[in-house]
Amino acid sequence: MRITPRKEEVSRVVAILESDGFTDADQMAKALIKEVADILAMRDWYALVHTWNSGERGLNWAPFASESEALRTAARVGIGGRYGVVKLYSPGALVANHEGKKGWPGYCQTCGHPPFTHSMAGNARGKCLLGTCDCTRLVK
Ligand SMILES: [Zn+2]
Ligand SMILES: [Zn+2]
Repeated sequence: MRITPRKEEVSRVVAILESDGFTDADQMAKALIKEVADILAMRDWYALVHTWNSGERGLNWAPFASESEALRTAARVGIGGRYGVVKLYSPGALVANHEGKKGWPGYCQTCGHPPFTHSMAGNARGKCLLGTCDCTRLVK
């Protein structure tokens, strides 16, 4: 998984590293692993899907950070049969579009809900329309 860390990803990891809230290194390591898993779930990934020459369903491998990484890996290890790449959309974004993700780019910085829950029209313009939310202005 060849990834380039993004600013918002780095800042979440730094927040844990600089926290005084951990009593030992194991606790901090567990928190870091969970945070990084959460961060990586916000990305789209790619899977290498495979069929044997007989037509029988083969093995699938994932995640890869890009289509080209998946294809380069297939070529490097010389998998037989036929293969292709499919995009795997972010499971974190799937949930965040439903429940919100406060502090994450692309979501309202006031309430954490996605921009499409905010009104585009009239007096309510910018207001989050979710019944449980009192956000009055979309902040990107
Ligand atoms: Zn909002
Ligand atoms: Zn909201």
